Amino acid sequence: MTQTAHRLTAFGPDFPFPYDRWLEHPAGLGQVPAEAHGREVAIIGGGIAGLVAAHELMRLGLRPVVHEAERLGGRLRSEAFRVPGEEDSQVIAELGGMRFPRSSAAFFHYVDLLGLETAPFPNPLTEAAGSTVIELGGQAWYARTLEDLPALFQEIAQAWDGALDSVLHLSALQEAMRRRDAAAVKQIWDELVPAWDDHSFYEFIASSEEFSRLSFRHREVFGQVGFGTGGWDSDFPNTMLEILRVAVCEFDDDQHLIRGGVEQVPRGLWAQPVDDAAHWRPAPPWRICTAATPGARSPECSGPMTDASASSTTPERSAATTRCWRPASPGC
Ligand SMILES: Cc1cc2nc3c(=O)[nH]c(=O)nc-3n(C[C@H](O)[C@H](O)[C@H](O)COP(=O)(O)OP(=O)(O)OC[C@H]3O[C@@H](n4cnc5c(N)ncnc54)[C@H](O)[C@@H]3O)c2cc1C
Repeated sequence: MTQTAHRLTAFGPDFPFPYDRWLEHPAGLGQVPAEAHGREVAIIGGGIAGLVAAHELMRLGLRPVVHEAERLGGRLRSEAFRVPGEEDSQVIAELGGMRFPRSSAAFFHYVDLLGLETAPFPNPLTEAAGSTVIELGGQAWYARTLEDLPALFQEIAQAWDGALDSVLHLSALQEAMRRRDAAAVKQIWDELVPAWDDHSFYEFIASSEEFSRLSFRHREVFGQVGFGTGGWDSDFPNTMLEILRVAVCEFDDDQHLIRGGVEQVPRGLWAQPVDDAAHWRPAPPWRICTAATPGARSPECSGPMTDASASSTTPERSAATTRCWRPASPGC
C-alpha cells in the first residue's frame, strides 16, 4: 500500500492493481524460465488484446503466433475516406472504439510507446467541442459550457454529483484509488455490493434524496442528456454498480482520440520492433511469415513472406501470422 496521491487511473474495484507501474517497470512484466524461451504460444484473435499479449510475450522471450480470422485490429478499426470533389483530402472514420479516457493508463502506455498523437475528444460541453446543441421536445439550447444552459441542467448536474457522493461515496473511493490503497477501496466497495448489486441505475436516481427533491422532468432530462458523453437512459435497467464503476474510474471523462485513427495502436504494436526481448534479437528488415490456411501452423522464416499491411488488410483471409526473429544465442 502506498499513501502517495497519483492521478486517477482505472485502479479500481475490479482492477485493484497498478498496471501502469507494472508496465513501466524497468525489469519488464516478468520472466519465463530460460528453457521455455522460443516456445510458441498461440494467440486467438488479433484485436488489441491479442496484439498487446503478443508484444509482451515476445518481450518475455516467447514466440507468439497470432491467429486472426478477419483483420488485425479487431474492433479498433479506422477507415480513410476521401471527401467527394477533393482529390487530396483524407478523413479518418472510426468504425469501432474512438474515445479513450486518460484514466485508462495501460492503453495510453502503448499509445505513448508508439509515439502516437492524441487530442481531446469533442464530447458535449467540452472545450474541444467548441459548442454543443441540446434539443429536447422541439426546444434547442446552444451552449459552450454547463453554465450557459438553463438552471434545470445545472440542478441535474448537481443532483448527480451529490447523489454519487452521498449514497455511493464516490469521493472517498476516488481518494483511495488515487492513493492506490486497495484495502480502502475494498472496504468501501464491500459495503456497496450487497446494498446496490441488485438495484438498477434508475432505482438509484429515483430513490436518491438529491433527485427526489427535483421534478420528474429532471430525471427524464437526465436520462436523455446524461453525463459525460451523453444520454444514459438506455442504461437505466442496468445495475448501479456498473454505472458507478464508469463514474468512479472516470471512464466517461477526459476522453481522447488518436490522431490518424486508433487502428494505428494494434497495427503499430504489430510492426513495432521489440528491442528489449529476453531471447530474441530483431532480424531487420522485419518479415512476416503467413500461413493462409485457417488453423495451419505458420511456416518457418523460409515460408512465403509478405509485409505487415499486406498480410493484415486482407479481411477475407484467415491467417496464422508470426513475425520472424532470430534467437539471441545460436542453436535455439
Ligand atoms: C462501434 C463500437 C464503438 C466502440 N467505442 C469504444 C470507445 O469509444 N472506447 C473504448 O474504449 N471502447 C470502445 N469500443 C470497444 C472496443 O473497441 C473493444 O473493447 C476493443 O477493441 C476489444 O478488443 P479485443 O482485442 O478484446 O477484441 P476484438 O477487437 O473484438 O478482437 C478480437 C479479434 O479476434 C478475432 N477472432 C474472434 N474469434 C476468432 C477465432 N476463433 N479465430 C481467429 N480469430 C478470431 C476477431 O476477428 C477479432 O479481430 C467500441 C466498440 C465498438 C464495436
